[in-house]
Amino acid sequence: MDAIEKELDRLTSQANLSKSIKDIDRCLQMLMAARSTIEKDPSATTRELQTLEPKLKAGFQDANDSLKGLHGGIAKYTKALDKKFKHATNENGFDALANNQPLINRAIMMHLLREGKFEVADTFSKEAGLVDTVPPILEREFRELYSIQESLRQRQLGPAIEWAAKRRDVLEAKASNLEFELHRLQYLVFLCSGGVNDPKKALEYSRSWFLPFQHKYLSGLYSLCLCFGWTMPLTEHIIEISQLAGCLLWRGKMANSPYAAMVQDDSSWQSIIDSFTKEFCGLLRLSAESPLYVATTAGAIALPTFNKMATIMKAKKTEWTSQNELPVEVPLPDKFKYHSIFVCPVSKEQTTDLNPPMMIPCGHVLAKDTVNKLARGTGSRYKCPYCPADSLPKDAQEIFL
Ligand SMILES: [Zn+2]
Repeated sequence: MDAIEKELDRLTSQANLSKSIKDIDRCLQMLMAARSTIEKDPSATTRELQTLEPKLKAGFQDANDSLKGLHGGIAKYTKALDKKFKHATNENGFDALANNQPLINRAIMMHLLREGKFEVADTFSKEAGLVDTVPPILEREFRELYSIQESLRQRQLGPAIEWAAKRRDVLEAKASNLEFELHRLQYLVFLCSGGVNDPKKALEYSRSWFLPFQHKYLSGLYSLCLCFGWTMPLTEHIIEISQLAGCLLWRGKMANSPYAAMVQDDSSWQSIIDSFTKEFCGLLRLSAESPLYVATTAGAIALPTFNKMATIMKAKKTEWTSQNELPVEVPLPDKFKYHSIFVCPVSKEQTTDLNPPMMIPCGHVLAKDTVNKLARGTGSRYKCPYCPADSLPKDAQEIFL
């Protein structure tokens, strides 16, 4: 991957069209000047065109010359890609989504809306002839999401706080910390921007907004108190500790405190954007990450393994016929693992909704199909494959992962 990144960096630094644009603009100016001269004095046409021709040729040559670096960069980048991904296509010829074009279109639409590319989504929808693929209400929600995300990127917390306050009950029902996190960051912004001796705005803010949270977030408030020693109406010993620790630690040194870093650090803002996006999408019953992004990223990670497998199968002249099941394990990063997986120790098959894991009375766990096979499909008594206990299939209990 290093070679690809190197070429991409080189391409990004060289992919500068500004010189070509200037060259073309110069050519346009020459043409317009010539037109105006000819309009004023038609008898000058031949002379004007003769003078213009070599100048225009030179101008186009300049524009082409300045594009050479870009063409070269694209050629090298493509070469590096080809070298790394020798088999970029799906060689086993199996396309699980071949009959699911509407599903793919919807995923693309949703992805574009999530990314705030509303115009592109609109054009895609028109050109692909999509009708009601995504409900209009969802589009409106995504516009709001994008607008609030933009405010957060500009380090403006107001719209996000307003959104969270309106949905306090549902967020609390989900045990979400979002509203408190937003207020905490807003308070720190005030504290850090108010100057070392002027924490008044921050104090007033915290008095107005932290009280509703004091029981739920005592420890969080306590650590905030540490940074300046404000006497919040918390329990007695928290006030005492916060006053003492706050006075000793951060009075007059706010700019050097970890709290200032929290406000200045891009990662804390990114983290609040992530939390906000997660809660916003959660209320819409959608995942925080775009499914299209997750699927393509996981696919890109898995592709080299599949291609290697295809090469081996071709060499050994074998075929994998179970198309809905992978013949090899593809390790994915932890954030791509959404739930636990159980593989039946007898059949070696991964359990599914139709064939769930079942705990039999002795405590051993098998897939439902395995239990039925052991009982020969008759519901009769069978022996556990792992211990001497025997039981009836009806006594097995489904396990929810
Ligand atoms: Zn057993």
